[in-house]
Amino acid sequence: MKLTKSCRPMFAFVQMLLFASVCQAQVTAIRAGKLVDPETGTTALSQIIIVESGKIKSVGPRLPIPAGATVIDLSNSTVLPGLFDAHAHMCQTSPPDNRDLFSLDIRLPSTYRAIQGVVNAREMLESGFTTIRDVGNNGNYADTSLRRAIEEGLVPGPTMINAGRIIAPFGGQYHLQPERRELGQPEYFVADTKDEIRKAIRENIHFGARVIKIVVDDQEYIYSVDDIKFIVAEAGSAGLKVAAHCMTEQGARNAAAGGVASIEHGFRMSDEALQLAKQNNVVLVGTDFTEKAAILLGLPPPVAKGFHDVFIDRLKRAYKIGVTMAYGTDVFFATAGETRGTLAVSFIDSFVEAGIPAKDTLRIMTTNAARLLGLDKQRGAIKVGQAADIIATPENPLEKIQTLKQVSFVMKNGKVFKPSK
Ligand SMILES: [Zn+2]
Repeated sequence: MKLTKSCRPMFAFVQMLLFASVCQAQVTAIRAGKLVDPETGTTALSQIIIVESGKIKSVGPRLPIPAGATVIDLSNSTVLPGLFDAHAHMCQTSPPDNRDLFSLDIRLPSTYRAIQGVVNAREMLESGFTTIRDVGNNGNYADTSLRRAIEEGLVPGPTMINAGRIIAPFGGQYHLQPERRELGQPEYFVADTKDEIRKAIRENIHFGARVIKIVVDDQEYIYSVDDIKFIVAEAGSAGLKVAAHCMTEQGARNAAAGGVASIEHGFRMSDEALQLAKQNNVVLVGTDFTEKAAILLGLPPPVAKGFHDVFIDRLKRAYKIGVTMAYGTDVFFATAGETRGTLAVSFIDSFVEAGIPAKDTLRIMTTNAARLLGLDKQRGAIKVGQAADIIATPENPLEKIQTLKQVSFVMKNGKVFKPSK
């Protein structure tokens, strides 16, 4: 029984009296040796964070610890808000012996993919990702079921903003043959005309999407600026943002001109396209592949090196131009000795290689992503009123960003998921 639920005023007065003694919310006090504020890139020493009912109640030095509070001692660690991955695919996992997503998507039922999602979500949380935006490729709404299960506390996982089915021109990201034209669905929501697009967005929202994901340019025929403006308006009228998968320069230009919230990948964007994105407040979720991740994607090593180099070059240029970026990884592949979380956090290496300062990388992994997801009032900072999504690392990520690969403590919504050793 959840005592907090018993506290709701709808219950009879007698019940309230009976339960009054046990209804006091659980209070936790965290002693933080160092506390990092990613937004300002600053560190405060010897802070105390008081957590009550899943939220941060107060933060400061020398705060009195309430009687009966559970005390968590992180005085030898650096404490910071949980990380974000703005480009995740929980219910898709390609094993080392099969990187062909088309055959996997056809063979695996959504029920099985939901179970894969449960495992991936737990692994993301284990590595310190307390919030993710899941951008589709989840079969027939396995992502919505996973999000609900996490929200209801059935399984552990990050807070999810999920896309439901990806909306795309005919074929989605596959190359079909005319006798099997239906195989692209339900993985993709094929929508070419305005009527089909409107219907796809509305069905998607009805079945639990919290963001609309479109594939702009994986076929020779691509969504136009006019199509994208229509998508942004239709999604926006229901309060949803649009994430646009862009592989080409023209696709990225159309997406930036069409006013999407974010361009995904965008690895071939020219300086002009990046300028346009900046001008239109479009966030770049670069999915900046490390060379190792590119090999795991299934590319032969020399090709993987070239693929990775293109990302690094674009990452450097985007940073120089001043495009707002949010961390996103696109990990959907598995390999021995790694988890979904360890692979996701390994994309930090690309930021290091591109020479992005640690304070900017950390902001990209927290503050910027929280804003993109529309969650910055609730998550992404250790401030009064925010959800208690708190992690700890052995060293200060503002000095050594790689310490994020050794997250030693994870709390989500005030509940300890990974205790500090
Ligand atoms: Zn992706």
